[in-house]
Amino acid sequence: MSNKILKPKKCSLYQFSQTYANNPMKCVEFFLSMKWPDGFSCDCCNCHDYYLIKRVGKTKTSYIMECKKCHKQYSLLAGTVFESCKLDFYKLLLGIFLFFNENKGISAIDLCSYLDVNYKTVLLLETKCRILMSISNSRQLMESQFYEADIFHIGSKSMNKAGRASEQQSVLGVLSTAQENKYPSYIKLRLIKDYTGKSLKTNIEKCCILSKKAKLNTDGEKGFNILDKQIQVNNEKINYEEKDHRLYWLNTIIGNIKNNITGIYHGVTKREMPLFINEQEYRFNHRYTGNQIINKVKECLQSSFPISHRQIVYILNISLPYFSTAC
Ligand SMILES: [Zn+2]
Repeated sequence: MSNKILKPKKCSLYQFSQTYANNPMKCVEFFLSMKWPDGFSCDCCNCHDYYLIKRVGKTKTSYIMECKKCHKQYSLLAGTVFESCKLDFYKLLLGIFLFFNENKGISAIDLCSYLDVNYKTVLLLETKCRILMSISNSRQLMESQFYEADIFHIGSKSMNKAGRASEQQSVLGVLSTAQENKYPSYIKLRLIKDYTGKSLKTNIEKCCILSKKAKLNTDGEKGFNILDKQIQVNNEKINYEEKDHRLYWLNTIIGNIKNNITGIYHGVTKREMPLFINEQEYRFNHRYTGNQIINKVKECLQSSFPISHRQIVYILNISLPYFSTAC
């Protein structure tokens, strides 16, 4: 019997448009079930009945809910990352669908054409989708008997005045596999500032559950040795000429991730890189989610929080020194 996992079918764009296009009530239902999975319930009076109020604005038509008893009004996107979004429900859902349904990524220019909205709006939409992916990533640790870990560099190799690659950042990649060097399961990616044992230990502990029964394959980077009290570390230098070396899968996946970031998204800055790294981690770990992806998005939306463009820029700016590698 073949061990090959059959990839579940992706969400069908045809079925998506059959359900949601020209059907604002279906779009309302999506966000309503996200906000109230057990049906509408008023915070103030526990009433389950509501009026749906349609508001036709200059740029979009929006819907708000009003409790039939106490008349408290609710916006369906309030309290989520898409609070005060400029898109109407269908365009927002379609944008989310197109962004999450891709295995590799989708450029803002392409999404702009598909949604027929301006570039700035799409940039913000994509950034917020990446925030949703980051929220989901941070929820789970990997648990396996077999791990592979390595450090790679990402970012443009443009030279600064000192002739050094100024945009490159170091990323720690940790992969869990179902068997040693076989059948990749999940990946975790973390931007790191240095390769010291302390830094690698802290970051790996945030990625996976370590145990003395489990094995960690690495490539001779001294810092990984610090973990040998918690896990069996095989940290010998690897001969990359060998066909099936110990980090074959991690290296292959990292190669694909680098191609996705540089091939689809041009000129990602150092400041934005943490979000793009998180996006790739999410996409890899959800490669078998298939047509359940839209329900996954709903779960991420439930635990999201409002954030403005200004706040995103501020957070990325203040965290930049933390992620900058001394080259
Ligand atoms: Zn009420």
